[in-house]
Amino acid sequence: MRIVLLGPPGSGKGTCAKIIGKLYNVPVITTGDMLRTAVTSDTPLGHTAKGYMDRGELVPDNLVNALVRDRLAQSDAVDGFILDGYPRSPNQAKALDKILRDTGKRLDHVIHVILEDSIIVDRLSKRRSCPRCGAIYHLANKPPSIENKCDVCATALIYRDDDKPEVITHRLEVYREKTQPLLDFYQQKGRIETIRGDLDLRELPAALKRLFE
Ligand code: AMP
Repeated sequence: MRIVLLGPPGSGKGTCAKIIGKLYNVPVITTGDMLRTAVTSDTPLGHTAKGYMDRGELVPDNLVNALVRDRLAQSDAVDGFILDGYPRSPNQAKALDKILRDTGKRLDHVIHVILEDSIIVDRLSKRRSCPRCGAIYHLANKPPSIENKCDVCATALIYRDDDKPEVITHRLEVYREKTQPLLDFYQQKGRIETIRGDLDLRELPAALKRLFE
């Protein structure tokens, strides 16, 4: 199963990706997480990416395309993957098509996760995440049991700089300008399925499964 998940930041793409990954036993490849790891590990890629990420802008295509090409070549991704946060522009989509073509593969599904901007801004400004295990919390709807500590690994939670309201607004603008054209790109190829990003967590696995029937 080779799947691309599209949708604005905070739409629930990441949650959908994790559920599909478990359902079909394929790795979830999240470019945002890979880039954040590069930043914290202070690699040359992280060094370059940090400024773009702090401003809520897209990291240049050539860097992200190379990152994804290398990741897709790893053995766990050979038989399937879920891409979360990539492609983010028609240029990246074309690069992905080429990466797949070069290895004789093609995408099976493109899923568009939709949610209104007002809900997204609320979600992201109250989102806290664990820098160690990646667990996600929401201060109102899913707070940690102990204030500011991860329930899973007790690490101090972080409030991502790019989840602060002024940067969120910019990320949504960037999404509309750069990522929206992707929908046209994939629509022309006739392969987009849509799901709301605020379905009840108990309903979501079945709703996602229905997309693949
Ligand atoms: P995310 O966690 O997916 O919202 O990504 C956080 C930030 O990482 C984005 O605002 C971009 O700066 C960068 N980023 C993640 N994925 C990509 C991508 N496919 N292309 C360019 N930049 C990306």
